[in-house]
Amino acid sequence: MAFKLDKSATAFAEAKRYIPGGVNSPVRSFRGVGGTPPFIAKAAGSHIFDIDGNKYIDYVGSWGPMILGHAHPEVIAELSDALQRGTSYGAPTLLETELARLITEAVPSMELVRFVNSGTEATMSVLRLARAYTQRNKIVKFAGCYHGHHDSLLVKAGSGATTLGVPDSPGVPDTIAGNTITVEYNDAQALTTVFERHGQDIAAVIIEPVPGNMGLILPRPGYLEQVRALTEKYGALLIFDEVMSGFRVAYGGAQELYDITPDLTCLGKVIGGGLPVGAYGGRRDIMEHIAPAGPVYQAGTLSGNPLAMTAGLATLRLIAQNPDFYEKLTSMTTALCAGVQAQALAFGFNFQFHQVGSMFGIFFTDKPVYDYNSAKRSDVGAFNTFFHAMLEQGVYLAPSQFEAAFMSSAHTHTDIGATIAASGNAFARVAE
Ligand code: PLP
Repeated sequence: MAFKLDKSATAFAEAKRYIPGGVNSPVRSFRGVGGTPPFIAKAAGSHIFDIDGNKYIDYVGSWGPMILGHAHPEVIAELSDALQRGTSYGAPTLLETELARLITEAVPSMELVRFVNSGTEATMSVLRLARAYTQRNKIVKFAGCYHGHHDSLLVKAGSGATTLGVPDSPGVPDTIAGNTITVEYNDAQALTTVFERHGQDIAAVIIEPVPGNMGLILPRPGYLEQVRALTEKYGALLIFDEVMSGFRVAYGGAQELYDITPDLTCLGKVIGGGLPVGAYGGRRDIMEHIAPAGPVYQAGTLSGNPLAMTAGLATLRLIAQNPDFYEKLTSMTTALCAGVQAQALAFGFNFQFHQVGSMFGIFFTDKPVYDYNSAKRSDVGAFNTFFHAMLEQGVYLAPSQFEAAFMSSAHTHTDIGATIAASGNAFARVAE
């Protein structure tokens, strides 16, 4: 049966009548790859199903949260149970303390944790805290690292290693973006230069320790250590944005994997089990500046929502029950990447395959990729051809060259075999 997206095309046109661009988050519109985004009807395990009746092996996993796969029976059972007790109280619950306790045990640098509703809220709030604590205003971020869509961090690098903030979107005031300094990832010298120039004004360095928002980039050996040493030397705080890598690359996140202790950490995605959650936390002496313990204001009507806490708790408990969880997930991901890479090589494509645990990605270039500039050398046209060929064969990848892919514990060897076989046909299409 020919691949069809007729109902999704009609739904997309209808959505555009009421929602800007027809979607509630831009990448979902398939603008990068062209074509019609499948409208999703349901999901189960490693699969999602669209309204045209197509079934896909899903490597997006709602952009990271679904580490157990979709609609895990135990998560759904706990959620159904919690639902009977109401959806929100705006008052403290035992669930919040329990999830905070699990997080502090898994990520020891997080001595106190504050829950919010998204990763964006977590990074926005953590910057206010860092600025208040250090009484400095400037923030350093890295080109191609995404931390959510609030004004201070929606800033890219211009050309050159260090560029004082230029807003990435109309509506971000220069006065705010001007306090954000952007440097290339994996370039310790560029960061050193920034500290030499602005060291006394820098409140914090915020970094995705494993960047997953320009495709998947690996930190060079020793790089994160250098970032830690520089922040310490100049009295700036080091913020690990582990919204994507937290409970994903290891139970204790990238900070466990690379053995680096940041001052503050942001989480999201996996800790909400697919419901809206973010969190930030860190050293007790810093976190005690947050209201009502201290003067730095931050609040939320739905923060610590009982359904979100329940889904997060169920997810983390299921992971923790299984001592081989990350090992198995990693070896499945390695098998997938090796199989797909072999298919690429069979067509003479020496593309860059990157993997950290269950995060992975392919850059469509034969040159090494280690930062935003090198990532941008990828052949986006070739990626788009590959993407559509995979979609038509029932493999759902992120609709952009510059996104990471995720494996879940629900993916099977059959899924992996089918994906590898599909990739052979897709590379053949790229080679045409
Ligand atoms: N930080 C990182 C590393 C992310 O990957 C994302 C989202 O993809 C965010 C922050 C923003 O999180 P949210 O989309 O929940 O606001």
